[in-house]
Amino acid sequence: MSALEPLVQSSSAGNEGADLHRLVAELYPICRSITGDGVRETLRRIEQLLPVAIHEVPSGTQVFDWTVPREWNIRDAWIKNLNGDRVVDFQKSNLHVMSYSLPVGRRMPLTELRQHLHTLPDHPSWIPYKTSYYSEHWGFCVTAEQLSALTDAEYDVGIDATLENGHLTYGEFHLPGDSTEEVLISSHICHPSLCNDNLSGVSVAVFLARWLSTLPARRWSYRFVFIPGTIGSITWLSRNQDRLAAIRQGMVLSGLGGPGELHYKRSRSGAAEIDRAAAIVLHHSGRDCKIRDFSPYGYDERQYCSPGINLAVGCLSRTPFGEYPEYHTSADNLDFVTPDHLEGAYRACQSILTLLEKNLTFVNRQPMCEPQLGRRGLYRSMGGAGESRSKEMAMLWVLNLSDGAHSLLDIAERSSLPFESISTAAALLQQSGLLEERPEVADNSGKYQGKTGAYAQ
Ligand code: ZN
Repeated sequence: MSALEPLVQSSSAGNEGADLHRLVAELYPICRSITGDGVRETLRRIEQLLPVAIHEVPSGTQVFDWTVPREWNIRDAWIKNLNGDRVVDFQKSNLHVMSYSLPVGRRMPLTELRQHLHTLPDHPSWIPYKTSYYSEHWGFCVTAEQLSALTDAEYDVGIDATLENGHLTYGEFHLPGDSTEEVLISSHICHPSLCNDNLSGVSVAVFLARWLSTLPARRWSYRFVFIPGTIGSITWLSRNQDRLAAIRQGMVLSGLGGPGELHYKRSRSGAAEIDRAAAIVLHHSGRDCKIRDFSPYGYDERQYCSPGINLAVGCLSRTPFGEYPEYHTSADNLDFVTPDHLEGAYRACQSILTLLEKNLTFVNRQPMCEPQLGRRGLYRSMGGAGESRSKEMAMLWVLNLSDGAHSLLDIAERSSLPFESISTAAALLQQSGLLEERPEVADNSGKYQGKTGAYAQ
């Protein structure tokens, strides 16, 4: 993509927030887990917005050190008193059943039932979210208020679920660009009715893919994966080892719709282009934000950044998982996630990806002293103040550092100017003939070996 156009304005008005929230709301009622029909139904709904390829991997498939588990499906679950009243009802919240619970159907004393109940004593009206993927248990998650109302001696307990050989399901969308090198965007689709942890990342990813699809040209190819957490990324990586060399960088998207400032967690190297792009976009966003170093804990970046895979994949979220009280509870709902927060995160992602698209390297064609900008109409108000002054500073930085060895991101970092200013200045200078794009250097060593070989020594 050689034509330079203005960056996406972070302040530009749009209705994306409402669209993003609508998709979250549509997917919210579905009972997802790491396998099963809830994941399929989620992908089918996504398919209506984006032509995702849906893949099925059989239970028992070996994926690195793991095995694709049996498929879990649930139809109904209840705790009934002996009058037949449902005092806990899966139909009211799918969080009531611990994910991957074994089927149950019998009368039992409260003393036995209590051993299978999980609550949040600090938040008595919230339901916790629990899973038991890799050990065979069953359990109910209830509010502390529901627990204290269980006073009968016996209850009828039912979980109408199956755990049997089937498949792990994931979705994938590939968008080709000028380069076969790819940017990977990954979000997990394995949580039931939880909005921030799960659906916010899915929704932002879907709308990013739709936006990228509308661009007239793309420098990079893009691969979006919608996968169950951990086992899904391990499965995807195991099945796509021959493609990994093409992945230049990427991001895991999760937790983007709640309150709290944006957080970017760096990839394992900490110095990848995506790490620097995210840092500079967030820094110049005009809002509070945080950059964190890599750690081998978190979402699927744990797998993408495992030592044998070592992809340059970071993670963008708002308040990180586990650091807000609503995390993994029924309070992570449609009120917790707002259109404004979703849209702010979506705009930040757009700006980061736009930076990757526009981070070209140029060569100043008039490097012998400063070129005369006034004669070219580029130096209208030197000595002025404010915006025009910073535009001119951006041009001077671009001219000075465009020696074929510095990308526009390098120049933005060195000048402390927003990438957008640097990119806009480069576009003006390119139009005036003062700047030419450095041809792609095969070994990417950075040293200009261009058309004339000028000042490459
Ligand atoms: Zn989670």
